[in-house]
Amino acid sequence: MSIERADQAAVKAADRAHVFHSWSAQAHLDPLPVQRAAGSSFWDYDGNRYLDFASQLVNANIGHQHPKVVAAIQEQAATLCTVAPGFAVDVRSEAARLVAERTPGDLDKIFFTNGGAEAVENAARMARLHTGRPKLLSAYRSYHGATGTAINLTGDPRRWASDTGTAGVVHFHGPYLYRSPFHATTEREECERALAHLEETIVLEGPDTVAAVVLETIPGGSGILLPPPGYLPGVRAICDRYGIVMVLDEVMAGFGRAGRWFALDHYLDQDTAPDLVTFAKGVNSGYVPLGGVAISAAIAADWDERPYPGGLTYSGHPLACAAAVATLGAMAEEGIVEHAAHIGETVLGPGLRALAERHPSIGEVRGTGVFWALELVRDRETREPLVPYRPRGDEGRPTAELAAACKRRGLWPLVAGNRLHVVPPCTIDAAEVEEGLAILDEALAVADAHTTAGATS
Ligand code: PMP
Repeated sequence: MSIERADQAAVKAADRAHVFHSWSAQAHLDPLPVQRAAGSSFWDYDGNRYLDFASQLVNANIGHQHPKVVAAIQEQAATLCTVAPGFAVDVRSEAARLVAERTPGDLDKIFFTNGGAEAVENAARMARLHTGRPKLLSAYRSYHGATGTAINLTGDPRRWASDTGTAGVVHFHGPYLYRSPFHATTEREECERALAHLEETIVLEGPDTVAAVVLETIPGGSGILLPPPGYLPGVRAICDRYGIVMVLDEVMAGFGRAGRWFALDHYLDQDTAPDLVTFAKGVNSGYVPLGGVAISAAIAADWDERPYPGGLTYSGHPLACAAAVATLGAMAEEGIVEHAAHIGETVLGPGLRALAERHPSIGEVRGTGVFWALELVRDRETREPLVPYRPRGDEGRPTAELAAACKRRGLWPLVAGNRLHVVPPCTIDAAEVEEGLAILDEALAVADAHTTAGATS
């Protein structure tokens, strides 16, 4: 049976009839019907093209419909579509080898999941079982997934409705110099104070009760908050001091997004590797759902003689692993990670900084690779956010208008809180970046109109 899907209105109506959407009030949805995609763009059924500056929730790092990945999925589908986790499968072993090869230190065993939240769930479980301790520490400005422990670990407002508050999770402040929780004025101060705060939190909680510090290498959904250079090595040292497992969540920042294979490559080396790394998204650009945990030798060895108490029917799914093997292979062959770093340094970063010169609504530009945020403010002096931390009712109008202005001009944006995240595929070329920057330049006038400067000019 084939599905009739020729018409924009019909596709939308069919969606509204039966699809229940994530994070949304169902009655007010107006989802864009997407018909096809290629490279850095996707198209609706009316033939309108959108430049994908959101990469489908910061995920399609290799771009849309990469021919090598599509072919690998097709080939695998023709051979073996489903197989339980207990079997040995060539594409699964190869995907694990390719991920392990890119992780630092001795993180050489890979537990596959279907996405990021399950990876975080399992990392939390491994840390608790490894240490025999109950508590997990995570940052307020973080997102770790929407399942049980992962949503508790999440610091941002998405946690509020589902947080049981009893899951042994304690939140702390990570570094964020632009709005320093520590009243710091330099990166160095922010780094030192953030580390002192983390250590004090551990001491006050009782180091013997803390299993893990779980943090995003570069907090993504909370605003692409690049840590100061010494922060992660400092966290590593604190974890070592108290026998705490260091978990880095690379679900969003990994696999080229930050211009490195893992974002942690900016900050850590073989000797300061974390104990567990969670990943998903970019590992196969979401062509088939896949995530996982890279596990250090010491933690993996806990389950040499006794069974690991966890598993998933689709762990290491052959289609997902075939997509990962092809994705990671193509990324290496085509120099896609290096390209993401280069385009960020030479075109995207400078272009966004140039926008900040012209637009009073841009308070800060920060990022690396193809992982950038414009933090939007009402007033550059006071740094009052353009919209509140959690906008209610009409308070979100300035960023909603900005998003609409981008879409009208053929750019699909990612707006989160008072930020515009600029997160195109790693494969985007310079001409496409320039096209997107020109659209942002026009659309940002909408945000400027909500600033104190805009109101008086
Ligand atoms: N961790 C991080 C850092 C993420 O950005 C996300 C998703 N945005 C998740 C975990 C959860 O991943 P998933 O939606 O695949 O469960």
